[in-house]
Amino acid sequence: MKILSINAGSSSLKFSLINMENESVIASGVFERIGIDGHYKIKFNGEKYEEDAKLKTHVDAVNLLLEKLISLNIVKSLDEIEGVGHRVVQGKDVFDKSVIVDDEVMRKLESIKHFAPLHNPANMLGIEAFMKALPNVPNTVVFDTAFHQTMDKETYIYPVPYEWYEKYGIRKYGAHGTSHRYITETMSKILNTDKFKLISCHIGNGASITAVKDGKCVDTSMGFTPLAGVMMGTRSGDIDPSLLPPVMEAENKDINAIINDLNKHSGILGLSGISSDMRDLTEAYNKGDERAILTMHKYARRITDYIAQYYVLLGGADVIVFTAGIGENSFVVRSLVCENLKCLGVEIDDEKNNNCHGEALISTSNSKIKVYVIPTDEELMIARDTLELIKNA
Ligand code: AMP
Repeated sequence: MKILSINAGSSSLKFSLINMENESVIASGVFERIGIDGHYKIKFNGEKYEEDAKLKTHVDAVNLLLEKLISLNIVKSLDEIEGVGHRVVQGKDVFDKSVIVDDEVMRKLESIKHFAPLHNPANMLGIEAFMKALPNVPNTVVFDTAFHQTMDKETYIYPVPYEWYEKYGIRKYGAHGTSHRYITETMSKILNTDKFKLISCHIGNGASITAVKDGKCVDTSMGFTPLAGVMMGTRSGDIDPSLLPPVMEAENKDINAIINDLNKHSGILGLSGISSDMRDLTEAYNKGDERAILTMHKYARRITDYIAQYYVLLGGADVIVFTAGIGENSFVVRSLVCENLKCLGVEIDDEKNNNCHGEALISTSNSKIKVYVIPTDEELMIARDTLELIKNA
């Protein structure tokens, strides 16, 4: 059985075609610059195919994707595709799990789309395009927020006027839920139990830390939007909102411009003045650049702060997992964070930390908390959910 896993953005559409017999990726790629001019890249059989192509709408991108699946011999017939799973950024408290798309689901998606105005409408364009192009194939929606729906009210409520929550739905929703769920399920297989306390650190360009107890999310660092929590590639993470008015006045900026600064020009990029990319930061850090050192230490500190907070919340921790671009690849960040956690009895094996590729246990046998590196796989999680929903439909 083959499943398409789709991540549609406002001007792009990423896909992975997954063979669910062995959960391997058959082909993957991205259609980008939709509505501007158009370009696609497809990886299949160790080859890369790349070309400009006119992509006026998401429907054009989906039609071209399906055409390429046939012409590049990736599938013999489109009938081989038995389901299409779509990543949706915000499910609010309306969706606490993945579902098959029907009219009711589309109506609910429409009613919450203003909660993620940059993402949800784009996700919906992707769904609509597939409904048109493959009318007989079921579509499913998998939400970044769903895994966090098990947080209790004391956790997700903000200490602001309660009416904001009641009237406007202002509360913590979190994000990266599909990745944290993948890490939880993978850890459950490794430890051979559902009963464990996990702190899952998804640290890529976006970053969030999640506390998981017995398979369920109890808290997560992102908030009403992905701007909250730890410091990220270009996002500030948590700050005091009172710093905004003086900056707005001094720089003659409105609230949208200043929120854009917090989302796009802060974090590693803003503090270092070098780059948002951890590889560039690490290079400058290794050369002894003062701002790079400050940025790297601040970055590790913010992650440590959340791990420490969740250690207390969970009443201890059995496992800490590092995942996503930085978590999987940066032994420097892992090493600095774990150094900060020494007082909790965390001890990592430098040899294992410095040389790990793919899934690995990097803590020593003396460590009071096991520390793992696990490559995340959100596309596979989306495909797994899709398969499960189709089977049980
Ligand atoms: P993601 O958003 O999960 O794709 O992660 C992107 C981040 O991972 C960027 O900051 C990259 O610099 C970082 N990254 C990728 N490979 C490495 C590496 N080998 N060493 C350090 N950081 C890396």
